[in-house]
Amino acid sequence: MTARLAGFLADTRFERPTLVMDLNAVADRYRLLADALGSAKIHYAVKANPAPALLARLAKAGSNFDVASRGEIEQCLALGIPACRLSFGNTIKRRADIEFAYAAGVPLFAFDSPAELKKLADAAPDASVYCRVLVDGTGSEWPLGKKFGCADGLAEELLVQAAELGFKRPGISFHVGSQQTDLNAWDRCFARIRALIDRLAARGVDIGLVNLGGGFPATLIRSAKLDPKSYAETVRQLANRHFGDLDVALIAEPGRGLVADAGCIAAEVVLVSEKGDGDPRRWVFLDIGKFSGLAETMDEAIRYRFETPDNTGPMGPVVLAGPSCDSADVLYEKTEYGLPMTLQEGDRIWILSTGAYTTTYSSVGFNGFPPLDTICI
Ligand SMILES: *Cc1c(COP(=O)(O)O)cnc(C)c1O
Repeated sequence: MTARLAGFLADTRFERPTLVMDLNAVADRYRLLADALGSAKIHYAVKANPAPALLARLAKAGSNFDVASRGEIEQCLALGIPACRLSFGNTIKRRADIEFAYAAGVPLFAFDSPAELKKLADAAPDASVYCRVLVDGTGSEWPLGKKFGCADGLAEELLVQAAELGFKRPGISFHVGSQQTDLNAWDRCFARIRALIDRLAARGVDIGLVNLGGGFPATLIRSAKLDPKSYAETVRQLANRHFGDLDVALIAEPGRGLVADAGCIAAEVVLVSEKGDGDPRRWVFLDIGKFSGLAETMDEAIRYRFETPDNTGPMGPVVLAGPSCDSADVLYEKTEYGLPMTLQEGDRIWILSTGAYTTTYSSVGFNGFPPLDTICI
């Protein structure tokens, strides 16, 4: 946590769970990633945290933006971000949204299927396009499954088709899985992409862009020792090794890795109890849960770090849960967490590195609990 965040949290009384974003820290991380990634242009994945002040700050720092819907495009345009700095990276787009984006001047579109490529040929004929390939996400804490991307063989055929449809120097994209803690995943992926580029070259298709996607980790429990700078520098070195001799533009689309560490949720303990069933663990219920911002605790995939500013002393094991009347609203039951034995109702609890995928995952008001508030400082 930055000193600026710590100071603000210590001096502020919060009426409800609140995400505090340190925009200086976001700008610093942008600079760090941009420097470490060298020639790769950064397209911030807007869905990670679309707070207007945050987007404006990143725009000022020079960032481009990856958007997934008409709504995100409109939000960027409303902030004065020119359409030429946007890429439409969702491979599943409403035709009307493609038409809207193309008319607005968005230059770059993703696809991973014949039908989506056809849509782009119809609705965005002079755009630049790239095909997303399927990656298994091994080593990531939030693997993306099979929803996005297609197998290399299909990608090859689709890129040949794209060239035939008149799309010039099409690109290839992938995503190694969100919160990817294993740098070898990038190496494996780059090798595959390079082989695909070479096969396409042999068929007369010149690839002009490699989009590295996101996956840059935030500082969570299991990644606490990964340094963002050396991580990104390694990605750059690997990219150089595989693509350095080619004339391809590079893009990176960090979401989590750019904004998560700059945010901290201020929450509160609502109840500490025991079940009396022989399990020595206390149940600690917070005023925030799966439905009010912490959706990524699903399957205990994303493991946040906690701080308890009101308590010190010995720690004991806990189960952490949210406040709603839904039995799925348990945050960590299998993962071992320890919190101070003195913890009680009303004590403050800080949830670290929560600047990504929290505010927008918060329900509009399940059980009458308010959605997660954001304050940008
Ligand atoms: C969500 C998303 C990202 C960001 O992923 P992170 O793991 O948060 O860095 C990047 N690219 C695309 C296409 C996305 O949908």
